[in-house]
Amino acid sequence: PVPVLAIDGPSASGKGTVAARVAAALGWHYLDSGSLYRLVALAAMRAGVPLDDERGVAALAAALPASFEDGRVLLSGEDVTDGIRSEACSVGASKVAVLAAVRAALFDRQRDYRAAPGLVAEGRDMGSVVFPDAGIKVFLTASAEARAERRYKQLIEKGSAANMESLLKDLQERDARDAARPVAPLLKLPDAVLLDTTERNVEQAVAFVLDLVRA
Ligand code: C5P
Repeated sequence: PVPVLAIDGPSASGKGTVAARVAAALGWHYLDSGSLYRLVALAAMRAGVPLDDERGVAALAAALPASFEDGRVLLSGEDVTDGIRSEACSVGASKVAVLAAVRAALFDRQRDYRAAPGLVAEGRDMGSVVFPDAGIKVFLTASAEARAERRYKQLIEKGSAANMESLLKDLQERDARDAARPVAPLLKLPDAVLLDTTERNVEQAVAFVLDLVRA
């Protein structure tokens, strides 16, 4: 079977950056599963479908007109790469992500990314639900303080306003919601390798994961 490297972890852990770089280094395909939940939230908000309408949102997810081209994310051909990173889409994604029918509607689409020579799949349930047979599973995390600080720096660099205390509080609340939800809770699997990036930079994290794959 085509090899899969599953990287799961909490928000702002840096797993997106690490996963994309590892995929590029290996020449493997890359699945950013969080972007699918963000796209579903955006599509629902645009269509006026309430984010807690499980059947309505699942129907949108099943027919999601999404495509990925050269690192850009398209919805019905429109570039929404930056749009899906908005706070509204972050919150919306975590709302639609608790709906079992929505997760089921995205299941096959995610599995279809598995293609030669390999796939790096990143999210919350890659190792637990979507690719339980992944040859390597990594749980990539960092302390809440380190993650809040990274997000703070990103926002400041973009020229946005940011408040460290509220960022930390938001992260901790979202972590608690992701871990406590009944469907696909975020947890470190017994067969996942723990990669704590609190004291590691991106290069070190990428090297750590590449060593696992090449070992
Ligand atoms: O990783 P990212 O922050 O883009 O994910 C957005 C939201 O989508 C997360 O808050 C999480 O609730 C949800 N998600 C999920 N399962 C995944 C990926 C993301 O539930 N595999």
